[in-house]
Amino acid sequence: MLMTQVLPILDHIVTSLKELAMKPAPSDIPRALLTVEDVSVTYPGGHTALHSTSLRVQPGEFLVLLGASGAGKSTLLRSINGLVSPSTGSLLVQGLSGQTVTRHNLREHRRRCAMVFQQHHLIGRQTVLANVLMGKLGARTAWASLWPWGRADKLEALAVLERVGLIDKALERADTLSGGQQQRVGIARALLQQPRLLLADEPVASLDPATAQSVLTLLHEICKKDQLTALVSLHQVNLARLFADRIVGLRHGRVVFEGGPQDLTPAVEADLYAQPQLQAQPHAQPQAQPQAQPSALADPDSPYLADPAPPSIPSRSPSTTKEFQPC
Ligand code: ADP
Repeated sequence: MLMTQVLPILDHIVTSLKELAMKPAPSDIPRALLTVEDVSVTYPGGHTALHSTSLRVQPGEFLVLLGASGAGKSTLLRSINGLVSPSTGSLLVQGLSGQTVTRHNLREHRRRCAMVFQQHHLIGRQTVLANVLMGKLGARTAWASLWPWGRADKLEALAVLERVGLIDKALERADTLSGGQQQRVGIARALLQQPRLLLADEPVASLDPATAQSVLTLLHEICKKDQLTALVSLHQVNLARLFADRIVGLRHGRVVFEGGPQDLTPAVEADLYAQPQLQAQPHAQPQAQPQAQPSALADPDSPYLADPAPPSIPSRSPSTTKEFQPC
């Protein structure tokens, strides 16, 4: 009798223990490398370029920010590395002392966070090697920076240049390189920083399509090999589909899409790049015009309101906004 009462209790305890053992411990649950919590940015002058945005970026993720020109991609990236101060919200970074980015640990955060820019930001009259070594500046003390770079630093920079296929250009002036090569130097400089997080702001927007794809292939390969977390803003949908683990779509400073490349349907894409119908309507009656564009003009955050001549700007496809600019 006693056994029949005890056995079910024992059975229940064993089952509970088994369930507990199978449950991941809090330390096993993957923690986001970066958590953006309700970050918004209003520039001096009152334009809100980024409305309250929350985002979690997992370690090793290659996350693409997609959107038309003016969608707020740069503003989001710049607020993540502290080049722009968020008006609201907070940033949490795994491994950063104190976790939340504050002005006290901003320098530490920036050291761990490398940036690749659209226009490369190289010093043209300096050698490729000297430009790459700039990636180590943040780790140097003011005193050490008075001295020339040491042999170990140079060897490290040369090793990174080899990874981006430019070892033979190390001693050439940076401004003698092609646009694609200059962006490879920009990537090498970022890698020399040994970042935990790589931010790339339209890194291939000024390159022709073939070079853009080869530069992004290189960046993606390196990030995956090094398990480096990357946040890359792009306006080319085809490249986002090719390389992204996850895509976050922005429009008018708001996240309007979040998903894998397979979720980016033509309808989502059309919505992401939809332009307010603000073109002049030559056949419309003058009094009918306000009804034709009520939503865009009623929106106080519409970028057209900040534009001196909005109605005459033709609707542009995303691929023509920033592409093919000379480097
Ligand atoms: P994207 O990177 O998607 O092209 P941006 O973040 O550069 O978009 O810009 C978003 C909006 O913020 C645009 O309307 C742009 O004109 C505006 N903007 C960007 N930088 C500034 C600034 N420093 N001051 C005022 N407005 C800005």
